[in-house]
Amino acid sequence: MGNTKYVFVTGGVTSSLGKGIISASLGRLLQARGYRVTIQKLDPYINVDPGTLNPYEHGECYVTDDGAETDLDLGHYERFLDIQTSQANNVTTGRIYQSVINKERRGDYLGKTVQVIPHITDEIKRRITLLGRRGDYDIIITEIGGTVGDIESLPYIEAVRQLRWDLGDENTVFIHLTLVPYLSASGELKTKPTQHSVKVLLENGIQPDVLVLRAEHELAKELRKKVALFCNVELDAVIQSIDVSTIYEVPLLMREEGLDVQVLKNLKISAKRTPDLKKWREVVSILKNSQSEVSIALVGKYVELHDSYKSILESLTHAGARNRVRVNVTCLHSETITQDNVAEKLEGFQGILVAPGFGDRGIDGKILSVEFARKNKVPFLGICLGLQCAVIEFARNVLNFEDAHSTEMTNITTHPVIDLMEEQKGVTEKGGTMRLGGYACSLKKGSRVQLAYDADLVRERHRHRYEFNNDFLKDFEQHGMIATGINPESGLVEIMEQTGHPWFVGTQFHPEYRSTVLNPHPLFVAFIKAVAGQ
Ligand code: GLN
Repeated sequence: MGNTKYVFVTGGVTSSLGKGIISASLGRLLQARGYRVTIQKLDPYINVDPGTLNPYEHGECYVTDDGAETDLDLGHYERFLDIQTSQANNVTTGRIYQSVINKERRGDYLGKTVQVIPHITDEIKRRITLLGRRGDYDIIITEIGGTVGDIESLPYIEAVRQLRWDLGDENTVFIHLTLVPYLSASGELKTKPTQHSVKVLLENGIQPDVLVLRAEHELAKELRKKVALFCNVELDAVIQSIDVSTIYEVPLLMREEGLDVQVLKNLKISAKRTPDLKKWREVVSILKNSQSEVSIALVGKYVELHDSYKSILESLTHAGARNRVRVNVTCLHSETITQDNVAEKLEGFQGILVAPGFGDRGIDGKILSVEFARKNKVPFLGICLGLQCAVIEFARNVLNFEDAHSTEMTNITTHPVIDLMEEQKGVTEKGGTMRLGGYACSLKKGSRVQLAYDADLVRERHRHRYEFNNDFLKDFEQHGMIATGINPESGLVEIMEQTGHPWFVGTQFHPEYRSTVLNPHPLFVAFIKAVAGQ
């Protein structure tokens, strides 16, 4: 196949319909047919990237290998497609405006008035086609965040309208995702919101080619016919997306509904082969049918919103499937954990995971949870701040450095066991200034983590400012807390594990950003294995 083709995914009626999962599922199906696919997300907000957003605002901030702080949908893309995404896969309005304004300041517009159309829309088009220019992909799926009809989405809708004109019908396809609500009082499924939403797209010059209707109940043929007639699409292009127990079932449902077939038909591509989904089906079958279960406590402070820990929760699911167990996760709010109730709160969990985070709110509950896991020999995984809490706990309770702390939390300590990196000391800007993205980590021979990875050198993604303070390394190692992962260039400690404990591992990096459905992360797999073996 010569040139790259584009699939545009928009959403209507309401937000949170699962555009990311539909895009990722379609990507998986096209990839399973042998096409080279990537997915990109356009976000209509003004933040340059989600790195400065509180998790309560927008869920987890996902980090790519090249160090971009991105929307959590990129996590779905990587998990479903087993590909690496990059900064080019996530663009926000803030970033678009930033480049246009920078150009204007440089004088690149030669005295012209700079406007939304054509300058902003041109920059959007440039960003969309950037990934295609390298010739690495047959098909690029572009998910447009927000809901059609929103003021802030308008430039994006206009840009993709123009792209159809630029690239031609056979190189572009529009998928629109809407909701078909069920009114229980009358026992009816309603199509009017979908009709209205398609009208909004038409007003903006876009006729969708495929409609994906999110619904809680099966859509009868008559209803689909009605939607097809009133929205000018073929009957087979009206696709239902019904609620399922696991998101990983969505590609299989979309296959049954023929979403991939519709897309290929619109792009005038004759199908290379039927999708190979054997391994995928195996995972879904384990997730749905597994009889054995394990229970994990996830201790964090953004637990009110499950999206805050999206990649961690998904990694636990992948690792469960690999170990043929269902992983039940209970999120515990670290602010509610105290010396008096910690045993009661954590009693009965087979594994404890202390989550990443920023700032000192809820830190004591996290440190108490580590102590509980260490003393009661409960398998433990600490991620980023979770490792840092494990270090503080060990320093205070085993090494008897009573005032040990991280200098993120206090400057008044004689034992700054977690401290700011030298490079970070002069940094005042907040956006994109942490230690971000992939770094090498060499593993200590014979360590638990080296066995888990079955490798000597790995690459993992980071997002933090503070580090283990190597001035104290000797004290830790003499007492059984060993640095088993080290950055080969800087000597920074990346992994610590405890001897004399069934499974106690803390990582300064975020393993959750690298776990995929077909390639679960070795550390999560080993953690769940330890949990299941208890
Ligand atoms: N707040 C800690 C740091 O900046 C940990 C960050 C994290 O958990 N991602 O180092």
